[in-house]
Amino acid sequence: MQRIDLIPQHFRQGAERMAQAFRDLDQVIVAAHVNPDGDAAGAVAAAGHVLRSMGKEFMLYAQPGLPAYLDFFPMPGVVHTTLEHPPFKPRCAVLLDCGEPERLGRELAARLPELVTINIDHHLGGDGMGSAANWVDPTAAATAQLMAYVALAAELPLTGDLATAIALGIITDTGGFCHGNTSADVLYLTAHMVEHGCDIALLRERLENTWSRGRLTLWGQLLQRASLERRGSVCFCPVHLEDLRKCGALKEDLEGFVEQLRRLRGVHVAAVLREDSPNCCKFSLRSYGSIDVRAAAARLGGGGHRNAAGGTLRADMAVASAQLLAAIAEELDAEGVA
Ligand code: 5GP
Ligand code: MN
Repeated sequence: MQRIDLIPQHFRQGAERMAQAFRDLDQVIVAAHVNPDGDAAGAVAAAGHVLRSMGKEFMLYAQPGLPAYLDFFPMPGVVHTTLEHPPFKPRCAVLLDCGEPERLGRELAARLPELVTINIDHHLGGDGMGSAANWVDPTAAATAQLMAYVALAAELPLTGDLATAIALGIITDTGGFCHGNTSADVLYLTAHMVEHGCDIALLRERLENTWSRGRLTLWGQLLQRASLERRGSVCFCPVHLEDLRKCGALKEDLEGFVEQLRRLRGVHVAAVLREDSPNCCKFSLRSYGSIDVRAAAARLGGGGHRNAAGGTLRADMAVASAQLLAAIAEELDAEGVA
């Protein structure tokens, strides 16, 4: 089978356009959104592999670095956490899984005007922030899925570390092939990679069975604290800086927690509000089916996807909690959810 045949019709034109755009780059910063998750890291890794195959100079950049649970993951180069001492003078950037300059981190956002940029993303909203080329397709389950098609259009086989990077992004953003975005395209692409040696079970095991004692303690305490709001349709849990310190846990240990709150019968929206500093809180929302938490997040300046969204509130925990619960209630009222 020709590699191009592995790209579904709907993605072909974008993939070929991006492969050409990659060929026009050199001295490239490859970056995704701050506090990268598995899709951000997987997409960055995949872009690195594509650039390497083209003989380009590139550097990987993530703020404030990759989470510890990805320590095992084979990235195609050092992940830089600052742009102060780049190994070359950057001229270009590939911006992944992110639709807004502010979410790239201050250092990179400030440099954008002097860089030739390509933006590849699957978040709703905007036309893309790339100066040279954009591919924003919310029908993709993961940015890593789009990067797989770029790699195919660039004539790369989806094997080895490149396949693992794409699988990492897909597993992360589909919740391990469970969320509504687990399309036939995703399964077809993954089946192709499995057929060529990609070990999904091993990857999942290395991602999942890595909990620290601190994380277990934190989750135990938070599960007890979670409260039901709006007649039981919302499950809410605030997380204070002090909670992390007391349990010996890290911010990233909250990854996956909000999904647990959605499991309760009758709950339509799960919400976690995490204190980042005394006047800055980050919220995470989850829903399922037609209930649109992106719209609720957008009421507060955030964004994301219909069933998984987030944002930042510049207020203390008490004020931010009230704002968040009010925005969720407004959205559920607007959608006619009892
Ligand atoms: P999480 O709750 O896991 O941090 O994020 C869930 C989804 O919401 C992700 O797709 C993420 O990209 C998006 N998201 C999280 N925080 C923000 C934010 O501050 N702004 C925007 N636009 N999207 C966000
Ligand atoms: Mn993503």
